[in-house]
Amino acid sequence: MKDYFIFYNNSFIKQSDATLPVLSASTQFGLNVFEGIRVYKEDYFYIFRLEDHLERLNNSLNQIGFNAKVISTKEFLEIIRELIVLNKINTDFSIRFTYLINEIDSWSSNKCPVFFIAPLIKERNSADTFKTMVLTNTRRISSLAMSTKIKCGANYINSRYAYLEAKSKGADLPILKNKDNFISESTGACIFFIKKGVVITPSLDSDILESITRDTVIKIFQENNYKIEQRHVYEEELKKSDEIFICGSATEITPVKLIEKVDFKIGDLTKFIFHEYQLAVAAKSYKNYGWTTKIDLKVNS
Ligand code: PMP
Repeated sequence: MKDYFIFYNNSFIKQSDATLPVLSASTQFGLNVFEGIRVYKEDYFYIFRLEDHLERLNNSLNQIGFNAKVISTKEFLEIIRELIVLNKINTDFSIRFTYLINEIDSWSSNKCPVFFIAPLIKERNSADTFKTMVLTNTRRISSLAMSTKIKCGANYINSRYAYLEAKSKGADLPILKNKDNFISESTGACIFFIKKGVVITPSLDSDILESITRDTVIKIFQENNYKIEQRHVYEEELKKSDEIFICGSATEITPVKLIEKVDFKIGDLTKFIFHEYQLAVAAKSYKNYGWTTKIDLKVNS
């Protein structure tokens, strides 16, 4: 990976110069909150759903008990502009925006967090991307124990267990059920399926992250007059569906071709949402939703 400039603890430094005490609360206990935000290169750079990511990060800061408020959109944009220039970025990329405790302390730390903003090069999905999945014995963490609504580093250890289980069973990704035996989500992605033209996805009380992409997908389908159901979903109906796809800021729209031994075709509605999502992130469609923030910097071609 290239040694990019990042913004850490109020200065622009090379990623390799950023340090963290080994006994900090973040290194020891995964105590951090973060967002992964996508930036798409067109005639200008466009950030997708920036305000929503900043709002979710602010909620995460609150819920984890960090004594900080997220920086303003204006400050964020100034940092991103500078990072694009310093790193000579000329392609799609992703931004990791993380608040952490960089002092030696326990998980109960009430120290003030610092933040870093780091670019990671990540191009948009090509139309032939797909994944295979397996239902895991590993369950999604219960929001009665740890909130699944926030993006906290420690939550991803649950994802790690499920991912390792999926890999050991020969699949690309896991599908996790929740404590009540309903379908919850994957790692880093929410799940949608289609049955007889109806678009179905687990409801927000299925121990899922309130995914911004899930919200985008629902709004695009609604705008185009498709019937949407957000509800509890059983394993059997998922396996009997006509089409399945997963979605998330990183994975965008990714079709699912195989769940265990059940084959799925990449159907018309999956192709439709893939295409519409690509238009939305590139600021070519759904402009009335105000989802894209243009970075006022001409792109070198
Ligand atoms: N679920 C989990 C557990 C995730 O980590 C992510 C990625 N942030 C998602 C769903 C998708 O969320 P979003 O669309 O906001 O990226």
